[in-house]
Amino acid sequence: MKTDLTSDSSFAQWRLRQPWPANGDEQQALKKNALEQLLVSFRRGEIISLDGVESATARAIYEIHGQRPFEMNSHWILSAQDWTCPCCGRSKVAISRLGGKGQILGKLTIHHDHMGDAIEEEFCRVFVAKGTENPQVEGKRLVGRIGKAFAAHEEVLICEDCNNADTRASRDLGLPKHFSFPVGKIRRFILPVPHAPHRIDIDAAQRAWEEAKPAYDLRMRLIGEVAVAAATNTHWYEPHQRQAIPIPVYGYANAMLGFANITDWLNLEDLEKALGPKEKIHQPNRARWRTESAKPGRPLPGNYLALLRSAPYMAEWWDALPEDWCCPVCDRSKYEQLYFGDKGEIQFRTPGASNAPRWRRQRICNHCHSVVMSLKEEITQRMGARPDDSFGHFSPDELKGIIRARPHSSHLIKPKEAAALVDLVVKRLAEEGEDVF
Ligand SMILES: [Zn+2]
Ligand SMILES: [Zn+2]
Repeated sequence: MKTDLTSDSSFAQWRLRQPWPANGDEQQALKKNALEQLLVSFRRGEIISLDGVESATARAIYEIHGQRPFEMNSHWILSAQDWTCPCCGRSKVAISRLGGKGQILGKLTIHHDHMGDAIEEEFCRVFVAKGTENPQVEGKRLVGRIGKAFAAHEEVLICEDCNNADTRASRDLGLPKHFSFPVGKIRRFILPVPHAPHRIDIDAAQRAWEEAKPAYDLRMRLIGEVAVAAATNTHWYEPHQRQAIPIPVYGYANAMLGFANITDWLNLEDLEKALGPKEKIHQPNRARWRTESAKPGRPLPGNYLALLRSAPYMAEWWDALPEDWCCPVCDRSKYEQLYFGDKGEIQFRTPGASNAPRWRRQRICNHCHSVVMSLKEEITQRMGARPDDSFGHFSPDELKGIIRARPHSSHLIKPKEAAALVDLVVKRLAEEGEDVF
């Protein structure tokens, strides 16, 4: 398929004249140039398969709401300006509305069915309940493949108001957590108007749920049975046919959209940054990791190792280190480091530290690593720049001084000590000057 990025625009013409260099540095330079060429072409209005704060669509939207900050997400930026929501039928202009901070909102979402989560949760629950002794690698793969087959609908790009209407109707009617309405059913209970969230006809939503309920109950019953088969080695093995994903977003459906041969030229993140708004509307609270304490994890079942080994990449982490290995920071044994993940799976990871002198690439446990990452994010927010080395500015002992380790759980953080370490690292970075970033 041809698009304005590959055939019609001045950007496309320019690109066709450029040979793709073999040398990495030249490729980087060309990518930078490509982005500049794209922006020129975009500003001339030659490109409508992408969007941004300077697009014709954005100008039409400013006309309506006035010049104010425009909060747009990546699906908005990386999809066409003439896209319309397949659920409510509104154009991007009609979808645009004001948010709580007086900003313009432009947000699109991928609407998906949650049956994949339901079956994974059920697999882990049954695995534990039945006390399965051996890893079930094929069974786990089967569950991964088949989740999609139980979906009542394909993933599809819709506007955030439509997605919110699904969530709100499900909540107000007290529907099961793994149920979501397909687009055709959402359409029946929303009352769409331009520039406002949808009002919901709750009686119509109730009727739509009653229609969907028998099939939902059947799917949940089947999921229960498949999960038992998969977790107890009584399953069949069946490849699942992949279907086309109707998400017309650059970065998702490149081949279908005709973008395949230009992805080397335009980096997703740079593109989004260049086209999107420059000002930040939300400033996340990056101190939360040390001011809020994490709940303790659940104790492990007797067959924890078989469940862990059902995911081969997790087994690789586990086997890579000797039995008696302990995390050099928190001193926990391998066993104590194991924990339940979000879907009831058993997690074990030991990422390597950097080659900073005080760390020398040692492996540490995943919970210590996540403390380091949280610390880095807060430092980055405080300094306005990202330190080039996540481990370079404090020692293992200093890290140890701010945590209280528990088995099978995230570390508790000592609030006073952690605040002091943040200040200390900020001070060290400031003293070392610019070259550390
Ligand atoms: Zn919509
Ligand atoms: Zn540790």
